[in-house]
Amino acid sequence: MSDFKDLAELLFPNITKSPDYYEELYPQRDLPEGARVSRFSPSPTGYLHFGGLYAATAAKQNCVVTGGKFYLRIEDTDKKREIDGGIDAIVDGLDAFGITRDEGVIDQDNEIGEYGPYIQSKRAEIYQTFAKSLTEQGLAYPCFCSEEDLEQMRAKQENEDIKGYWGKYAKCRDLSFDEIKANIEAGKTWTLRLKSPGSADGKIKFEDLIKGKIEMAENVIDIVLLKANGIPTYHFAHAVDDHLMRTTHVIRGDEWIASVPLHLQLFKVLGFKPMKYAHFAPILKEDNGGKRKLSKRKDPEAAVSYYVEQGFPKESVSEYIFTILNSNFEDWRRANKDADLASFPFNLKKMSVSGALFDMVKLLDVSKNVISTMKAEKVFALSYEWAKAYHPQLASLYEKDTERATAILNIDRENKKPRKDIAKWSDIPDYISYMYDETFTPCYELNGNATPQLAADVLEKYIDTVNLDDDKDTWFARIKDLCEPLGCTANVKEFKQNPEAFRGHVGDVSTIIRVALTGRTNTPDLYSITALLGEETVKARLNAALKHYKEEI
Ligand code: GLU
Repeated sequence: MSDFKDLAELLFPNITKSPDYYEELYPQRDLPEGARVSRFSPSPTGYLHFGGLYAATAAKQNCVVTGGKFYLRIEDTDKKREIDGGIDAIVDGLDAFGITRDEGVIDQDNEIGEYGPYIQSKRAEIYQTFAKSLTEQGLAYPCFCSEEDLEQMRAKQENEDIKGYWGKYAKCRDLSFDEIKANIEAGKTWTLRLKSPGSADGKIKFEDLIKGKIEMAENVIDIVLLKANGIPTYHFAHAVDDHLMRTTHVIRGDEWIASVPLHLQLFKVLGFKPMKYAHFAPILKEDNGGKRKLSKRKDPEAAVSYYVEQGFPKESVSEYIFTILNSNFEDWRRANKDADLASFPFNLKKMSVSGALFDMVKLLDVSKNVISTMKAEKVFALSYEWAKAYHPQLASLYEKDTERATAILNIDRENKKPRKDIAKWSDIPDYISYMYDETFTPCYELNGNATPQLAADVLEKYIDTVNLDDDKDTWFARIKDLCEPLGCTANVKEFKQNPEAFRGHVGDVSTIIRVALTGRTNTPDLYSITALLGEETVKARLNAALKHYKEEI
């Protein structure tokens, strides 16, 4: 109808391109069969949420395992919700956890890839071109309703099943060309609405890759496509962008599932091939015996910056995210101990339908494992970086002697059964506190069969025999040799068979020395600790402990 053509010209006089122009500009991607294209497309409204990192990891891995492309798009069409530095917060959060992108936004001013711009506010002309084309075909129309008009409409709809701008409530749907022209000439503002082809009893079916087959009522609402400022709504931008960026899989939060009928309708009227959808449930957390959403307001661990501040290595956070992304991940990990995460055969269908559970204890556990497999040099380098930003005292202890610090971190590492004491870099100051006089706090509490009297007797002798040049066997032989003359036994079995006959066994003797040197009953390898403390400190601590026990007796 020529009226529609005139209408399109009236509404969009400055738009000279056609959808075909963009279809050619952004050709189908030349990728191998089965390769998937997904995106992470947050709005720059605040810090990056743990759920965002989870979503980005899922979308990225979906592409990685199929040899596809993963990109970052910024959805900044709602300027009211945007915050300053919002894009940097997202980019920095992704970078900190190793979510690299094949394409898309690098920072506020830079992007890579052939399918951009990847920031929606830079795509106004593209949206308007498609909006103009819909108008030309009679599939979209301008609406002049004011906020008050819409309020009145809502008031009248209280008892309607379907609420919104539709059917007899869609006041501007059938305005004539002349009426529209008069409104525009009178300077009235307008939004562009979809002329929904849906019917109230129509149904649509689709297969969600996480939630399975879904049937929903067809969309009948004439939703806003372009706001009065010419900027699109999420819905219209989603359809245009994901089509032109040649996305194959949309992986997003399930708050969008109710909009799928609308989105499929938009694809239809725009003549686009629909893509696959995967809607994931929000991440949950146990609280007071129940489960609730991980909350930006209540939970510090909801912000990814928390993991940076606490000093969780990115490897740990990624490993943990994979454990909650796919239920079979941990089995895979057991069978592929050293494999790179990128080779995990991630499957959207194995994502939790009801919502993955965030569990801090599990994260700490996963992280201890990850850190236990790192070389001391890496632990030193990463924790030193962290300390410089978050723990100046640790940084300056390290700086006194970086080789010694690395050697401390190497105790009980790089062997078949490395200790798992460190879950995050912020555990290190306490973990190594007794290795530095500046942070050592003596504590002379004993356990087992060790008494202050036995401690005094052991230390008195040990002070004379300890020799820091000993190798490990000699060192331990000396401790064993202390036992018999003091009424203890070097043989724990013997002690167990006849406990009455001894004051204690070699374990108790070692504990006494350990407590004197470290203030703790449980530490990594005492031989290495002794060697790294150095003669002067060892002697001083043994003497101080001896003095303490003598006074205590
Ligand atoms: N910008 C949308 C949001 O932040 C993205 C949804 C999507 O991935 O399509 O919720």
